[in-house]
Amino acid sequence: MPDTEHPSVIRSSPPHPVPYAFYAAIGTWKYRRPPCPTCEWHWQYPAEPLLVQWEPYRDNIGDFSYNGPTGEYNFIVTDQVARFFEQRHFPCELRRIEYVKPRRRGKLPCVPFPYQGPRQLWPECTSYLELDQEASGVKLESSCPDCGDVRHTFRYEGIVIPKNNWSGEPMFRIKTNGWSAATFITADAKRQLEDAGFTNLLCRKAGQITE
Ligand SMILES: [Zn+2]
Repeated sequence: MPDTEHPSVIRSSPPHPVPYAFYAAIGTWKYRRPPCPTCEWHWQYPAEPLLVQWEPYRDNIGDFSYNGPTGEYNFIVTDQVARFFEQRHFPCELRRIEYVKPRRRGKLPCVPFPYQGPRQLWPECTSYLELDQEASGVKLESSCPDCGDVRHTFRYEGIVIPKNNWSGEPMFRIKTNGWSAATFITADAKRQLEDAGFTNLLCRKAGQITE
């Protein structure tokens, strides 16, 4: 299955916003530990429930919805996609969402509040793969002696994953991307999702899994 050797990342391509409603995730934020006085890393992370605030733009909801117009951060899915992820063993935890009243701006349409659309869940990918750091152009950028936070070059394209580092999972994150929610799927997984007819799945080529 050579097609599975080309992972794609779930994120839309700027500059054009997607033709479906998108949201801002405004929390819930929790602290893993107090902010670090040395490197100033905040040590906050988005915890369940994800607080979703629909943005005035469109009021039609895709099967995939993205945090922001360019889909660079987390994403949420309809119940049908969530069931699909479970049945096809996409490694993720399906977390709860709560909706926050949108800020009204101008006359742009917006998903109504209180929310009455399709049931949605927040998939948090639980599988992390190790890149070939040299082939992917990833370097250690900083390592804090105080809190232990380690940073590498962030990569969402040009990634090279040795096949031995991959257990066949259809969805994964990249270990050296650290706290980023950037989520990757294989080309095979992308085709499965497209064949199922899910709307607003936005991917671009991210790299490859090599022998
Ligand atoms: Zn630190």
